Amino acid sequence: MANTAEHQPRVSTTNQPPTSSIIEPFPDFEPADQPLVTRTTEVPPMPKVMDWAVAPTGSRSRADEIIRQVEYYFSDENLPHDAYLLGFAGMQGTNPVSISLITGFKKMKQYRPNSAVREALRGSTVVEVVDNKHIKRREPLTIRPTVTPRIDINRYKKQLQAAQQPHMTAGMLKPTGFEPYATEGPISPVQYEKNLEKYGPDEGIIARMETAVNSFSDSRKMHQHIRRVFEKFVLFGGFGTNNRMFQGGMNKKQAKAAGLAGEEVQTTEYYGIVEQVSDAFYAEEDGSKKSNWVVDFEGIAKAFLSSQFLQHFEWTEAKQVATTCMVLRNFYNYLMAHSACPEYHDQLLAARAVCDAAEIELPKLAITDRSLPGAFNSACSTLLGGSWANARRAKDSWANDGDNLGLERDQADIIVKAGIAAYGSDEQSKAFNDGLSHTSTERGGLEIVGVQLADEKTKQFYADLGGREGYEAFIRCMGKLICKRWTVPFAAPVDVPTSAKVKIDKDETFTFLVEDETLIFCELGMKMAVTVIEMNNGFKFIDSIEMMFPTFYEFLPNERIFEWKEPGPPKAWMARQTVNKDGGEGADARIEQGEANGGGGGDGETLSDEEHASTMASVPSTMKGVVINKNGGTEVLEYKTDLPVPKPGNGQLLVHNDYVGVNFIDTYFRTGLYPAPQMPYTLGREAEGTVVQNGSGEQYGLKEGDRVLIMNESTYAEYTAANAVKAVKIPDGIEKKVGVAAFLQGLTALTLIREAHHVKKGDWVLVHAAAGGTGLWLVGLLKAVGANVIGTASTQEKVDLASKAGAGHMINYSHEDVKAKVMELTKDAGCIAIFDGVGKSTFDLSMDCLARKGSMVSFGNASGAVPPVPIARLSAKNARLMRPTLFGYIATREEFEHYTNELFGFLKDGKIDVKIHKTYPLSDAGRAHNDLEGRKTTGKLLLDPSK
Ligand code: NDP
Repeated sequence: MANTAEHQPRVSTTNQPPTSSIIEPFPDFEPADQPLVTRTTEVPPMPKVMDWAVAPTGSRSRADEIIRQVEYYFSDENLPHDAYLLGFAGMQGTNPVSISLITGFKKMKQYRPNSAVREALRGSTVVEVVDNKHIKRREPLTIRPTVTPRIDINRYKKQLQAAQQPHMTAGMLKPTGFEPYATEGPISPVQYEKNLEKYGPDEGIIARMETAVNSFSDSRKMHQHIRRVFEKFVLFGGFGTNNRMFQGGMNKKQAKAAGLAGEEVQTTEYYGIVEQVSDAFYAEEDGSKKSNWVVDFEGIAKAFLSSQFLQHFEWTEAKQVATTCMVLRNFYNYLMAHSACPEYHDQLLAARAVCDAAEIELPKLAITDRSLPGAFNSACSTLLGGSWANARRAKDSWANDGDNLGLERDQADIIVKAGIAAYGSDEQSKAFNDGLSHTSTERGGLEIVGVQLADEKTKQFYADLGGREGYEAFIRCMGKLICKRWTVPFAAPVDVPTSAKVKIDKDETFTFLVEDETLIFCELGMKMAVTVIEMNNGFKFIDSIEMMFPTFYEFLPNERIFEWKEPGPPKAWMARQTVNKDGGEGADARIEQGEANGGGGGDGETLSDEEHASTMASVPSTMKGVVINKNGGTEVLEYKTDLPVPKPGNGQLLVHNDYVGVNFIDTYFRTGLYPAPQMPYTLGREAEGTVVQNGSGEQYGLKEGDRVLIMNESTYAEYTAANAVKAVKIPDGIEKKVGVAAFLQGLTALTLIREAHHVKKGDWVLVHAAAGGTGLWLVGLLKAVGANVIGTASTQEKVDLASKAGAGHMINYSHEDVKAKVMELTKDAGCIAIFDGVGKSTFDLSMDCLARKGSMVSFGNASGAVPPVPIARLSAKNARLMRPTLFGYIATREEFEHYTNELFGFLKDGKIDVKIHKTYPLSDAGRAHNDLEGRKTTGKLLLDPSK
């Protein structure tokens, strides 16, 4: 029987006697038979005692029995003399005690399950339920314990562990075989016999390893993070999961068909050698082919810990490094202890030593990876238009503050000067003062062959300099990092024309200035994939580092087991980029020939290791782009053909831009309305293009060859190092140019009508400059949601265009009375939302056209910035005034994806007609700006960076 409210006496929570004053205020109140307010001493019923808790006789519930028994255990009468329970409840008796412990007592077993006991105890006045699993005495003992508490060490340890790792369940706390104290063997004679059977001399190494990998996996309790390491590791070594079932290679279906049933069919996780490896090995065994696979435990350890591990795990965390090394070591120990492959004993010892070395070196590599190229090299890069040049952003630009890395130009200037003063010759200092430029850019690999910390004199120089006010934050003592060339083994095959071949001197050394605090972590033999730039004064600097590798780096063909594809022929854009700077007509001819030949670029000759100086020759070192060196009219736009191609950094992609969107904001940066983060500054905010290179870090699934839209600075160029977080793959079915024509302006319109003012069907809305890029999007989307759109524009042609796009009512604001027309259309109510990107010249008008409780959304300054507005002005209409930016609505990846998906939906449905005004050559960016500012355009303006 359930304790429902109907069966309960109506009780008061107060013990006050009924008084007439409670009833008096309600003269028409008829007292019920039962007084509403009673004085009672009854304990209110327990809220949730389970049905079964009421004894079948109905005389006394099991809940009462449970309470009475447990209250006795914790009573002053028992607990002070109960050494065992006292060991858990503590000297005061008030420590939480697990309910399982209590239900383990002989008399309590009958009351299980634990949940029932817990529910019953909610009615106890002596103990209280702490959480799902524990109870405790409510008050401390009033009698001193008469016995010494007996501590159950094992339970105590578990409790302690559980308290330290509250996310782990009891099962997870059982020994796993990976504890630091876990050892292998000695094995029993029976095990020894079994091992002989399993790993007998007749079994080939593949069969033995297969057995060993599975026995090891079965003998360990692998938590998720350990299983992940183990699986990636054995896969790298040639073993896949569940690719073969235990029954002689049969799968479950085949095994069933063969009459095997139940436990005979092993369905648990099983590691089997992957096809590529077994085919190769068995082909060699039957003599049909020579295998290129060898047993190389040491090589696998080196290659795994220096490549796969760095790619798939949070390797910069020392804890992850320790766990990974521990798993590998544990596996090697197992192989040795079980004599799985005694003939490889030495290799196993060497592999174990690799783990030991990696555990020490990888944390150092993590520091160098984070710190290099260091302040001096980044400062050179900043001043010389390298990959750090645009890293520092204007304070009020759209950039996320968190991303604002990089140096101010004046800081960079001081750092470079300090470096040249400490280490350069007089000529080099003079060249610096005369103005720096870069003479060459080279991409490739470097190996550290020497580290020289600063000598005492240099240290003193830096100490003095750093002591100057304002310098201490960024002046650091530097020493020398000496490197020689190293061939990056995984680099794509290089096809470059003969004219681009460079004979390289493998023994040439390079010296770079690096801060001492980083140098101390640099180990001889560490390697890096880098871009190096040489300045006109002879100084070389590391512009950026693509990846660092430990001293024990090894490249194995195992990388090909998974995620590896035979590189295809170079694509057309690659062929275009292989043109040498001085290639001229000859180079063009080569491209044509290459394309005609099915895409193979250049003259088809592949360079040898010694010959190729660059690992990424398909991306040129210089590119076309439009920069400004000062603010002003369109005359300040400088079209360049020798800008350094940026390098994708952490979380970035290198994108080859096919089309670039022109936006009003570009004119703001040009004129100085918005301050450029640095000069020279490459303009631009969006582009459509192809990913040609991935940087490190999070790439959001975007990869080489993907067609993408990017929302990023510095897109007025052939290439942009774009933040992957604001890049999105263009879905199939969206034609070229359409994506970028829709991107920034479409997203702006979409976020404005969804978030700045959530427009609903039937709302009256006013859109200024309705035939402009953003304006046409607003009109189209507002029509799609069923709003009544009133648009404004300055010419009849624009009026007609916006009407065609869906504006129900258009006003030519060059000669019509906008306010009168709006009030007439809205029957004097005004518009509930006004989207005003024109700014200064329309602001007052917009406020006049606004409805009571309306939203005035001022989102741009095409006619100039709106002067400050006194907030009292809003009270006349209880108005909302907003100055939103697109970036504020798509700041997170989730928001960005949400809105881009919605935008793509509109494009695919064909609901919006994307109007492209014109595509200008990049070299003609000035004309595009003139046309936009001159109000000559409708819809979207694009630039073609190839021209
Ligand atoms: P448009 O294609 O809309 O061009 C601007 C239009 O503004 C002109 O065609 C013109 O249309 C009108 N205009 C009115 N007065 C002037 C003037 N004095 N000088 C120039 N143009 C004037 O450009 P966009 O779509 O790129 O940008 C529109 C507005 O939206 C801009 O203010 C821009 O800054 C803003 N914007 C804001 C964003 C944000 O995140 N907040 C994002 C994107 C854009 P007409 O001849 O019909 O008057």
